[in-house]
Amino acid sequence: MVPLSQHTSRDTSMWIGINLADPIFRGRYHGKSRHPDDLKGVVSRAIETGCTKLLVTGSSFKSSRDALKIAQEFPGTVFTTAGIHPCSSSIFSPSHHKHHDESQSEDESPDQHTPACGPDPTKPILDGEGVDHARSAVIISDLKDFITTAPKNSLIAFGEFGLDYDRLHYCSKEVQLHSFAAQLHLAASLSPQLPLFLHSRAAHEDFVRLLKDAFGPKLEKLEKGGVVHSFTGTIEEAKELVDLGLYIGINGCSFKTIENCEVVKQIDLGKMMLETDGPWCEVRPAHEGWKYLVQFEEARRKEEEGEKKKLEEEERQRREKIEAERRAAAEELEKKAAQLEFGEGEKVEGDGEKKRQKQPKKPKQQQQPQTKKNQKKESEVPDRFKVVKKEKWEEGAMVKGRNESCTIERIARIVAGIKGVSVKEVCEAAWENTVKVFGPFEI
Ligand SMILES: [Zn+2]
Repeated sequence: MVPLSQHTSRDTSMWIGINLADPIFRGRYHGKSRHPDDLKGVVSRAIETGCTKLLVTGSSFKSSRDALKIAQEFPGTVFTTAGIHPCSSSIFSPSHHKHHDESQSEDESPDQHTPACGPDPTKPILDGEGVDHARSAVIISDLKDFITTAPKNSLIAFGEFGLDYDRLHYCSKEVQLHSFAAQLHLAASLSPQLPLFLHSRAAHEDFVRLLKDAFGPKLEKLEKGGVVHSFTGTIEEAKELVDLGLYIGINGCSFKTIENCEVVKQIDLGKMMLETDGPWCEVRPAHEGWKYLVQFEEARRKEEEGEKKKLEEEERQRREKIEAERRAAAEELEKKAAQLEFGEGEKVEGDGEKKRQKQPKKPKQQQQPQTKKNQKKESEVPDRFKVVKKEKWEEGAMVKGRNESCTIERIARIVAGIKGVSVKEVCEAAWENTVKVFGPFEI
């Protein structure tokens, strides 16, 4: 068993991928205000958990801009990316009803939420959308301006962008392909380049092909590397990405099934980064990965019980020693009394009295530990922070169903459980990989 001291994730760490620009962290859900802005609480819970540097993802013009504002609010803690997510890429099509930048003040609009992790089968798939090339040229030029003029100590990566064929209802395949290729060519043309924050869902072949088109068959023109975040693909796909020098981002979506967990097991720690991708992708009890959290808690409880038993045993031995010393002293007194019995009767009596007073008391019976029968059943995986429904929001509590950075320790624990290594090892590897690609983090 790994000692508890090694189970900690309280290392100075940075974790990729949190959508803090999502209005949900300001208390707004689908355009309606449900509770006060608690972004500061979200950041402070992350720091308390040991997650001291956050990479906030921009996935549209608006969210990239908002992310940058957040970075300026939390200098040295929050860093950002800028790019156009495949699910936000319909701005490249002629049917898009407004200019890409018009949504600047529309933060009450429900569609300003970052795209969720899973597909939405209720939405119809878009088809037949073409690309508006004139509009595209303006978008790419605006994106270039945004990236090149943003403070370099805050905006540290290009993305998130890529392909998502699970969610073609947000944007057709044709437009997604255009959006990804156009942004890749912009990323390749920047001098210096930025590391890439990439999204690939059910689109591996096209994804790799377009990357190679922009950066060469071995991505030899990719100067700063990149991460393919929220990975849910096969091991063959992971290996191909790793062989191209890319890193794999693991979050709650990467542990949904036995197959997912097997893929995680086979990815080298030296090529892995950890993320929550909040407010999405939380680990749920129905997910395969959950059982590693249960195992972690069991190991922790056992270790705590073992520690308690050890202390009790030490206490018992200490009492026994005192008892033995007292007995020895009493016997010594008895001996002396017997030697002095002649002629010093009075004194002996006095000593005898003293001796009787010094008789050690019988040790009190040790209190039995309380039975757990009547105690309230604890959750098999307790939350570090209080969790409440958004309707019952309170300061300092997490919101049920809204994933946030402080749950990153769960990701580290599950990876450690799957791989049979310590959490510390996982955290240190992820931190090193993150610094290699996105660092150094200057204030
Ligand atoms: Zn993504």
